[in-house]
Amino acid sequence: MSSLKVPVATLGVPRIGRHRELKIALESYWSGKSSESEILETARKLRAASWIEQRDRGVTKIPSNDFSLYDHVLDTAVMVGAIPPSYGWNGGDVPLDTYFAMARGDQNADCGCGNPGHAHGVSALEMTKWFDTNYHYMVPELAEDQSFQLASTKPLDHFLEARALGIHTRPVILGPVTFLKLAKARTGAFGLMSLLPKILPVYVKLLKQLSEAGADWVQIDEPCLVLDLEATERTALELAYSRFETSVPGLKIMLATYFGALGENLEAALALPVAGLHIDLVRAPEQLGRVARFASSDLVLSLGLVDGRNVWRTDLNAVLEQVKPVVAGWPSDRIEIASSCSLLHVPVDVELETGLDPELKSWLAFSAQKMDELAALSRALTEGRDSVSDAIKAASYAAASRRSSLRVHDPLVGGRLANIEDAMLRRTGPFAARRKLQARQLDLPAFPTTTIGSFPQTADVRKARSRHVKGEMSYVDYEAFLKSQTAEAIRWQEEIGLDVLVHGEFERNDMVQYFGEQLSGFAFTQHAWVQSYGSRYVRPPIIYGDVSRPNPMTVRWWRYAQSLTGRPVKGMLTGPVTILNWSFVRDDLPRSTVCRQIALAIRDEVADLEKAGAKMIQIDEAALREGLPLRKSDWSTYLAWAVECFRLCSSGVADATQIHTHMCYSEFNDIIDAIAAMDADVISIETSRSKMELLDAFRSFKYPNEIGPGVYDIHSPRVPDVAEMTDLLSLARQRIDDDQLWVNPDCGLKTRKWEEVRPALVNMVAAARELRKVAKAA
Ligand code: GLN
Ligand code: ZN
Repeated sequence: MSSLKVPVATLGVPRIGRHRELKIALESYWSGKSSESEILETARKLRAASWIEQRDRGVTKIPSNDFSLYDHVLDTAVMVGAIPPSYGWNGGDVPLDTYFAMARGDQNADCGCGNPGHAHGVSALEMTKWFDTNYHYMVPELAEDQSFQLASTKPLDHFLEARALGIHTRPVILGPVTFLKLAKARTGAFGLMSLLPKILPVYVKLLKQLSEAGADWVQIDEPCLVLDLEATERTALELAYSRFETSVPGLKIMLATYFGALGENLEAALALPVAGLHIDLVRAPEQLGRVARFASSDLVLSLGLVDGRNVWRTDLNAVLEQVKPVVAGWPSDRIEIASSCSLLHVPVDVELETGLDPELKSWLAFSAQKMDELAALSRALTEGRDSVSDAIKAASYAAASRRSSLRVHDPLVGGRLANIEDAMLRRTGPFAARRKLQARQLDLPAFPTTTIGSFPQTADVRKARSRHVKGEMSYVDYEAFLKSQTAEAIRWQEEIGLDVLVHGEFERNDMVQYFGEQLSGFAFTQHAWVQSYGSRYVRPPIIYGDVSRPNPMTVRWWRYAQSLTGRPVKGMLTGPVTILNWSFVRDDLPRSTVCRQIALAIRDEVADLEKAGAKMIQIDEAALREGLPLRKSDWSTYLAWAVECFRLCSSGVADATQIHTHMCYSEFNDIIDAIAAMDADVISIETSRSKMELLDAFRSFKYPNEIGPGVYDIHSPRVPDVAEMTDLLSLARQRIDDDQLWVNPDCGLKTRKWEEVRPALVNMVAAARELRKVAKAA
């Protein structure tokens, strides 16, 4: 029977440990409190634990080399020896500190060791989103004359390490085509695929080593197959995989695709000479039929049936029904059951959540539970559904209770959603008319100065919050503390002469969590961490039910701040699209519907702020761009509902009330019409690092509303001087009209220190005053 058992695969599992052991070990190493051997030992233990756990839970295709100390793309760059010269590597094993310098920059200035091979003062590689996840990878930098060499034995080492524990693994490697596609050109612009012939020998060498060490299968990830590919990239795939087939004939390749449908790349994928193909049937269930129809029956099909991107329990029966027609027609020894993608993107174990109520908990499955689900599905296919009837029943029961629970379905929310009218999506007057009313009501100088919302979250602020959460500081004392922080911030903003003030966000833990905690339909966890990048983990809120806003969320703090000053204080909210994109979202409704629900809740808050007297309300949409689908052809649908949700939350106010939005990025070229369609009266964006070049999109589009291009890079501790900011502002004036221009930093100041913020904002106000003089004289 065991030889017939349908194999179970995870494609990768969380690396962080049940109790964030990896983060703790990394930070201790970085701060010099522990040695290299200690961190390597922690890592080894984490790997062993996750292999053993997978085996014990019934995973049979256990991955190795999915573990990384920091990031698997960085590991791949190191593996092929793609280490930019600035890191001072001269061949041989890559030292751990070189690896961390690539990940985080050299945090210590010159250590005085005098060794030119020791990277001093270098910056980190760039970091960007891994496909459409909230995981970020380090972007490999390649030169046109790049040479490659096998510079790391990690895949082999980990394979052998598992074998020493008696566990036979299937090593995971990021495929060469996806690797090149994710990299960036360090020198000039050249086609990255032109490097393929040079990188392939390194892969071949590695695959041979693995094969000789006893690996029968490897998993090679080519998630680029779910993207829009160019002809050169498809050719590259052909070249790479035929090369592997001829050079390492004994080794079977499971080609893994995930995060979407193969779409028009299906034919290309099926033509590759590989032994197996993994497809994501959670994101793209419809592709199963097509793949089964066109694939050769020699191919091992790995069915990605359990959601690796979300936290919901799988309805096992529904999944078995879904695959029944295909499984019935496919040779039974050519099927594998797998998670849709690596389980890296979900938290470790629901059982750690002792604070969640049992009903909600019964709806969830994290990495550990997903392994159990995979094993149950395999058993059902091997031995029949009766063999796992308890698991199937429990899963069906959980699914049914979610479908009917009153905690999930709020008829009032449904009713409001059904009654959204066109008029609710539009401000009463056009921008030109609103602007006049707003100017009259606000009476601001030219080039008004403001900030993005938060002021430094100092150690004192964080300590007070955590003491309050732990019950060590009373509500009354905590309130008094927050009030004094807010009052001091208002007083200081007045003193240095800012025109539009903020209350400082001292009461907020996080721009999404703060709202989620006050909205119905959101749950928060204690231990459900997922890796965002390196040692930074986040605990995204879980949106499990219809969203509504029982009570005002920010009015009290706004009102307090405004009571202290005659200048306008901006109401400060997080927008619906950002709240959605930074949460685990329920999977029983379209994301657009959940987003509309959040938009209605924010709309209520906007109305209450206005009623309380707010004349300006900022609604941050930091993550709007992040939600863009992987395929260009899906962009317009997403942007249409995202923009609609912003309009829904922001259009309920009088024309004289000024709506601001903020986005902390700067690539607007390809979405500028959607940005304009949001119709915020003022938008603040990040532009200082690009020297205002990124304003070009606004110029060529003739963006009609007002804009605050950031003149102070808040990502760096550096304090810009007045001249630097006036220079940036004159560059901005070449691109947008004077009466459109605001003066503000790139983003909120919560991560900065007051010692940096104080002089920087004093300089910023001086730069605006300077500009007023210059503009008047002209
Ligand atoms: N208002 C928020 C702040 O100032 C905005 C943060 C963000 O855009 N990421 O912190
Ligand atoms: Zn920002």
